[in-house]
Amino acid sequence: MLRNYTHDNILAFGDLIHRIHPLAGQGFNMTLRDIKIISKIVDDKMLLGLPIDISVGENFQSSTRHLNYLYGKAIDGIYEFFRLDNNVNNIISIPIFKILNKNSSFKKYSNIFSDKGLNL
Ligand SMILES: Cc1cc2nc3c(=O)[nH]c(=O)nc-3n(C[C@H](O)[C@H](O)[C@H](O)COP(=O)(O)OP(=O)(O)OC[C@H]3O[C@@H](n4cnc5c(N)ncnc54)[C@H](O)[C@@H]3O)c2cc1C
Repeated sequence: MLRNYTHDNILAFGDLIHRIHPLAGQGFNMTLRDIKIISKIVDDKMLLGLPIDISVGENFQSSTRHLNYLYGKAIDGIYEFFRLDNNVNNIISIPIFKILNKNSSFKKYSNIFSDKGLNL
């Protein structure tokens, strides 16, 4: 993940700023979210009569970088967990999922979280 999304008057976008494991199936969805965020930044600036310059990219970075970091790390964590679990014949995940499968609140909220991500 890039530390800086801007360089001079260039803004990095798409997978370049948040390349995540395909396990998540979310890479392009994150870009769609980014498009919504950057569009709002541009609209707000235009409404105030402010110039559309690299400050758009800087605002975009400060609105999204922490979310990308958190999400990317969480996906990496899930990937590493299952990798470890597979190496020990799923002795960690089998009992955990047995318990979670009986918990209806967990199932309900994990469905909502899967659909809406961090925008709960
Ligand atoms: C197996 C797999 C499954 C996925 N499933 C999902 C899913 O279900 N849902 C979801 O939301 N996302 C999914 N993704 C992620 C999604 O495909 C990516 O997030 C999305 O394609 C990224 O788009 P992009 O335009 O940022 O980058 P890219 O699609 O990588 O486009 C970048 C383009 O730039 C070109 N390029 C690179 N360097 C140069 C250069 N120097 N000069 C000129 N051209 C260059 C490349 O050839 C490429 O065509 C999946 C990804 C994979 C690999």
